[in-house]
Formats: sequence, C-alpha cells, structure tokens
Amino acid sequence: DSSQTQPHQMPRYARINRLLAQPAEVRARLSADGFVAIDDAEGGDVDSLRPGTYLAADAHIPDLLTFPEADSARLAVHPLVTGGALCLVDKASCLPPVCLQPPPGAWVLDTCAAPGNKTLQLAAMVGPAGRVLAVDRDAQRFGELRRRLVAMGAGDRVRCLRCDCLQLGDRLSQRCRDRITHILVDPSCSGSGLTARSVERQALDGGAGAGASDAESAAAKEQQRLASLANFQAMVLRSALTDYPSARRVVYSTCSVHSEENEAVVQELANSFADKGWRLARLMKSSWPTRGLSAFDCGPMCLRAGPGTDRTCGFFVACFKRDPGGSGAAA
Ligand code: SAM
Repeated sequence: DSSQTQPHQMPRYARINRLLAQPAEVRARLSADGFVAIDDAEGGDVDSLRPGTYLAADAHIPDLLTFPEADSARLAVHPLVTGGALCLVDKASCLPPVCLQPPPGAWVLDTCAAPGNKTLQLAAMVGPAGRVLAVDRDAQRFGELRRRLVAMGAGDRVRCLRCDCLQLGDRLSQRCRDRITHILVDPSCSGSGLTARSVERQALDGGAGAGASDAESAAAKEQQRLASLANFQAMVLRSALTDYPSARRVVYSTCSVHSEENEAVVQELANSFADKGWRLARLMKSSWPTRGLSAFDCGPMCLRAGPGTDRTCGFFVACFKRDPGGSGAAA
C-alpha cells in the first residue's frame, strides 16, 4: 500500500558499470538470485517496489536500477556490487555526467574527481577511443580514486593526476589541453544536500538549545564558510571556462542545497562569460521538474534534486555550453 511509504523514503539506486558488465548479464544474474525486474511496461514505480523486486529502467539515467531501501544490506554484499559490475550510487549524483554528454571518443577533464563515481560513469560514456583526465589534490582520496578506477575496469582510458586543478597549466601539455572538449567541475562543497538538513532546519537546531547570540555567531560562521567555499567553486569553474580552448561543454555540480554555492556561483559566471561565447544549456527541459531557484535568472536552466521532490539527496547541476568556434550564436 503506497500510502504507507514514508514521504522521503529513499530507494537504493545502483548503476550498471558497463566497463565490467553488460545490462543483460546483470539482469540475468539478478534474476538467478531471485530479484524480479519490474519493467516500464508494467507501470512500476518506486512506491510499488517490494523486497526482491527492482525497477529495470530509469527515465533520466541510463543503466540505473532502483531497488527498495529494504534490500540495501542484501545488495551491499551481492557479488555484482562487490565485483564492481553494479555501483551503489545516489541517482542525483549520476546527473552531472548525463548532462555533460561526452560522445564516444571525447576527451574529458574531471577536475575534482575522487573518489571517482562520476569518473567511472564518464569513462564508460567516452568508450575505448576516449580519454578521461581525473584530477584530485588530496593524497588519500587520490589513492582511493586510482584503486577504484583500476578495480572497476577504467584503468586504460583514465589518466589520474594528483595536483591542484587550478595549477594544471604546469602539468598538462598544450596538445592535451587543446583536445579537452568536456569538463566536469564537481568541487568540494558544504555537503548540505547529503544530510537532508535544510537551511531552515539548521536555523531551528540553532534556536532549540542555544541562546540568541550563540545562534547568531553560528550563523555568521556558516555564512563565512559558505562564502569561502563559493569563492573556491567559482575559481574552479572560471578556470574551466577560461583555460581550455576546445572546451564546449562544462558541467558544474554540488551536493549542496545552499544558493550561495549553486545559483549564485553560476549566475556570476554566466554574467561574466556571456561575451566569451558561453551560455547556459537548459538541462533536461521538461523531463526534470525540479529546477534552480527562480530568484536567479539562471534558475530555470539549472537542475535541483532532493528527497521530497525526486527521492534523491540534495543536488544541483548547471551546464555551460559554447559552439566549437566559440561564437555562442547557435541555439
Ligand atoms: N566527483 C567526485 C565523485 O563523483 O566521486 C566527488 C568530488 S568531491 C565533491 C570534491 C573533490 O575535490 C575532493 O575529492 C577534493 O579532494 C577535491 N579537490 C578540492 N580542491 C581541489 C583542487 N584545488 N584541485 C583538485 N581537487 C580538489
């Protein structure tokens, strides 16, 4: 009975890793293990999922399977997951590569790549003739990135670089820089979308046990932190829009719910790069109803996602595009 479903109950999403397995193999293995696929034709939706069933197709993300939350523990130890053929993900975190749309053979720069969820998705999209350059500056996370990419079958088409993505000029040849056409900017952020704690919730928390001045000082600190994050995020996005002459699509994403890290960053750069041929792409037009905040001009062009509206973590995606000639004239 779907009326018993919690409004924010999150399904368990898993993306087929085509670097290691094809969808037919995955489905056959799931079926052998007693999982029953509910196909589009049967009109299945998240609320109709029962333990042991799954949705075999997703309207937005290719190769995404949806399981009921109740099967999480069983899935976590399933050989398809431990062997790398299925990646447990959040649906929203699969949106940035889908919005970036690198075609087979493309060269992609993933500026903030670890632990590599989106790198893996991009590596599958560009195919054997394409390349992904995966950059991260954090030593520990970089080690995990490299280990996962090899284990998940992406070793031959991804090159990993441990450095600051703002200093790539010293590390990349001009030839490599010239070949990059698609760039993902998925920088460090507040992570507020992962905790499902909204700004309002934090304000309430602050008000519950603390005095007014404690709450004010916590709010001021949070504002400072957001301003510093937004400054870094804008720097990485600016570099992506400036430093790669062949770039024609740049996706910016965060798992934050704060407009300071999302629409405000995108609006600032949309304004300053309009005369350089960069425009915002209208992402997923009518197929994804949750849009950026309408208080910003850029809002309708961007995607937001969240537990209440989309059964995902809180997420934000925007995409800049320009024509190969850089004129920005075409629609
Ligand atoms: N894209 C990743 C994925 O899908 O698995 C998640 C990226 S996480 C949100 C942000 C990453 O940016 C962190 O791993 C962090 O170490 C890295 N980072 C932060 N500042 C950086 C910089 N200046 N250059 C390169 N990487 C950076």
